[in-house]
Amino acid sequence: MKAIMYHYIREHSKEYPYFRFLHADDFKQQLDFFEKEFGFVSKEDFITCFKTGTPAKGVILTFDDGLKDHYQYVFPELQKRNLWGIFYVCSAPYQTKKLLGVHATHLLLGKYGGKKIVEALEEMITEDMLIDKKRIAFQKNTYITQTNDAYTTEAKKILNYYISYEAREKVLQSLVKDLLLDEEKIVNDFYLSLDEIKTMQTAGMIIGSHSADHPVMSKLSFQEQEIQIENSFSFLEKTTNGLAYKTFCYPYGGFHSFTVETETILQQNDCLFSFNVESRDIISDDLLHRKQALPRYDCNMFAHGKVRDIVTI
Ligand SMILES: [Zn+2]
Repeated sequence: MKAIMYHYIREHSKEYPYFRFLHADDFKQQLDFFEKEFGFVSKEDFITCFKTGTPAKGVILTFDDGLKDHYQYVFPELQKRNLWGIFYVCSAPYQTKKLLGVHATHLLLGKYGGKKIVEALEEMITEDMLIDKKRIAFQKNTYITQTNDAYTTEAKKILNYYISYEAREKVLQSLVKDLLLDEEKIVNDFYLSLDEIKTMQTAGMIIGSHSADHPVMSKLSFQEQEIQIENSFSFLEKTTNGLAYKTFCYPYGGFHSFTVETETILQQNDCLFSFNVESRDIISDDLLHRKQALPRYDCNMFAHGKVRDIVTI
């Protein structure tokens, strides 16, 4: 049994020329490929696996970050094919009306490209904002030979790893204000609305928690992790049609992004299963002994799942 992870699925937009996403046509082709190669596991069979401990044969589809893309491009396609999927939503944007840091970064890079964002960061970031001063040298000539993709990587490294959480928040807020402008409108266009979530649930889709505001869970204290998990589940319980069962997926994913404590909290919260990112099939042992860290493949591991080359004219 294979679980597949998707993020952005959309079509090219002139407003975000550098945005990296899986093209909606490639997504459809990948569904054809999965159908032919492995088949899909029904929702009933998937849930039954947790009782029997025996994995079903085929593919399960999961979609992270509660994106409008999923309502626009994924949901109609799944309905057409009589398929279902699990959609992992962060609760904070509904309460704050603000973009999550991870998404603000994607949108900034998607709109302006890596070079411009690295330059803007160089202007704003001071030595005292950096966590590890040795890891980064802000000399402008360092980047001269870099491709736009390398700049993008650099910008992500700075925002995700080099600067402190506090500074990151400030820097991103100011970049969003200056470069993305109307944040509330972007938030409404970017994330699923609560009505869209309910429509998808009614049509048989599963809604899960992706935390409140997408932190690296392993960086948080036990109590902070509890708050992320409990608050996001109770928000979803209240604002959607309710949750038939609880499921979670780790922000960022990978074994570095959560701890045994995270798994314990999920277990204590009656979470039926949680997804990690790990490129292998779900086996019996996972279902019986480690339900809170099920492996999941990135869609780019399979045919048609790669981001297309960016063409900017
Ligand atoms: Zn995510």
